[in-house]
Amino acid sequence: MHEMSIAISIVDAVADRVCQEGCTTVSSIELVVGRLSGVEVESLRFCFAAAAADTSAAGAELLIVEREAAGACEDCGAEFPIASYHACCPSCGRFRVRVTSGEELAVKSITIE
Ligand SMILES: [Zn+2]
Repeated sequence: MHEMSIAISIVDAVADRVCQEGCTTVSSIELVVGRLSGVEVESLRFCFAAAAADTSAAGAELLIVEREAAGACEDCGAEFPIASYHACCPSCGRFRVRVTSGEELAVKSITIE
């Protein structure tokens, strides 16, 4: 399952950070998830709870910031929000759209105690 491997990598990243800081309890983890990242937020929450069990991240609150996707037209340079990879430029109607945001999947911050 895609979300489970993501959840495990988040827990690993948090564990590394906690070791460096010498702290033991993670109270919250803020994640940025782009609309085009392919991640199911609810599924990720579920997997995170399972992956975090018995680690320093157990019981941490997962704060998910969903980021809207945006693209830029390679032909006319227009920038606009997009809903999928198959977006068409609203300005010139062509399909040469470069995705400029929305593919993110990153740990933005970790709050430790
Ligand atoms: Zn265009």
